[in-house]
Amino acid sequence: MRIFSIFLFIFFISCERNAITGRRQLNLFPEADLQKQALTEYRIFLNKNKVIPIGSSKQAEMVKRVGLRISDAITNYYNQKGIYNELVGYKWEFNLVNSKEINAWCMPGGKVVVYTGLLDVAKNEDALAVVLGHEIAHAVAHHGNERLSQSFIAKGIQVAGDAFTKNNKETNAVFNAVFMPGTQLGLLMPNSRNHELEADHFGIIFAAMAGYDPRESILFWNKMNSLNENKIPEWLATHPSNTKRIQKLNEFMDEAMTFYKPR
Ligand SMILES: [Zn+2]
Repeated sequence: MRIFSIFLFIFFISCERNAITGRRQLNLFPEADLQKQALTEYRIFLNKNKVIPIGSSKQAEMVKRVGLRISDAITNYYNQKGIYNELVGYKWEFNLVNSKEINAWCMPGGKVVVYTGLLDVAKNEDALAVVLGHEIAHAVAHHGNERLSQSFIAKGIQVAGDAFTKNNKETNAVFNAVFMPGTQLGLLMPNSRNHELEADHFGIIFAAMAGYDPRESILFWNKMNSLNENKIPEWLATHPSNTKRIQKLNEFMDEAMTFYKPR
């Protein structure tokens, strides 16, 4: 009974309504703590992987150009809505790393990585924009915080003080699993259908605001579907999410098109 009331208490003090999705979330971690840890892990990741320098690669330039257009559009939108607080501490960075994985992610504070493998599927700027919009939507909708909070509760890890210190291997591993999904499964196999649909919904809106065609998302996920058939293990190919995803994207499209002004 006591444990139950403690959980209720935690739920009560930690639940907040997300400014962009309007949905109540259990977020146990201060955004500033997550941004600090994200910066540490981002630097470690960039040191360990082959970052493609801007200036030597048209692709790296494209990643930065598309990323900055989307982050500018989001910043303007949040300013107009009077919810700029939500982006405090965001210092956007967009890096392309050399890896065959079809993957991309955005950590709290706007630390983004795109893998070259993704650009083999998302070949043009609009396609890249809908993927980046999706990853950035996960970050600004605080999906990572929510998943991290759920993981800590499920594992019985205490949330107190700075959970992510240098020597705390367990909590740091949970952090990395949530924010830097290590394989293309991060893109393909959603941990939470609800989070994926929210990221798809706001991702195409953010892409459209930045002047990219949100309809490209349908083409992108169709391509991912055909990759599924050829390259992805059978157990994953049976996962219904891509078909469902395309159906939902079609439902979101009218709204996204109202934001779309071709660049
Ligand atoms: Zn996602």
